[in-house]
Amino acid sequence: MKKVAIITGASQGIGRQIAITLAEQGIQVIANYNKSEKEAIKLKEQMKEQNIEIDIIKADVTSRNEVKKMIKYVLEKYKKIDILINNAGISEYKMFIDETDEDWNRVINTNLYSAFIVTQEVLPNMIHNKNGCIINISSIWGIVGASLEVLYSISKAGLDAMTKALAKELGPSNIRINSIAPGFIKTKINEKFSEKEIESITQEIPLERIGNTEDIAKCVNWLIEDNYTTGQVISINGGWVI
Ligand code: NAP
Repeated sequence: MKKVAIITGASQGIGRQIAITLAEQGIQVIANYNKSEKEAIKLKEQMKEQNIEIDIIKADVTSRNEVKKMIKYVLEKYKKIDILINNAGISEYKMFIDETDEDWNRVINTNLYSAFIVTQEVLPNMIHNKNGCIINISSIWGIVGASLEVLYSISKAGLDAMTKALAKELGPSNIRINSIAPGFIKTKINEKFSEKEIESITQEIPLERIGNTEDIAKCVNWLIEDNYTTGQVISINGGWVI
């Protein structure tokens, strides 16, 4: 029986590549999206060209109701969930002093509250099956903190704390939870950086290149196959943060 994986925010960027990599490994992928319907449909069609069927499902992962509906749909159709990748996220680039309550709610809800509710809705099935692998996509900025990205850093540090605490609670149920903390990965989230800025970031990276989405998807794949790693924050960053 195929493993079943839900990936949040899989319409583009890192989530999209994770969806492709897992589907190519024979995992039944459910790719969640919110605003980017066209991209999600394109992903489904692209996989179909390789004779791989993936499911795409729209849900705003900051809404408990929408998340509940998504998980109900998945469980009715596939009967189980083996893998959850909490990937959906947004960035925020502002002086801390200018951040508003709305900014706080948007960033924390999208990056952190979403992982709380999606994980809660998925867990009863994983606990029942005594089997599960959860991966939170956090960030190096949750580890070392980023100037002008304080709310983002808080949200990602929160995800890593969730990973560590929940790993202790879920270990006896044979559910592993880990964080992958990427460095600089070329996706839409980094569109704001000019070529010149990217060049100067690259000079700070010991492996002398910025990351690509495959670098992250490979680690996801490894964590799924592994069965003795839990509660860890694995930073894939080319040596930028050591
Ligand atoms: P991206 O290309 O902008 O993709 C973000 C994804 O999140 C999109 O597919 C988007 O879906 C989804 N999303 C946002 N809000 C959502 C919501 N409310 N409900 C459902 N989906 C939602 O960015 P990315 O670089 O791939 O980022 C993926 C994750 O990696 C994020 O958590 C990010 O913080 C983390 N990360 C990225 C980097 C990097 O350098 N790229 C570094 C460290 C960590 P729709 O467009 O369909 O709404």
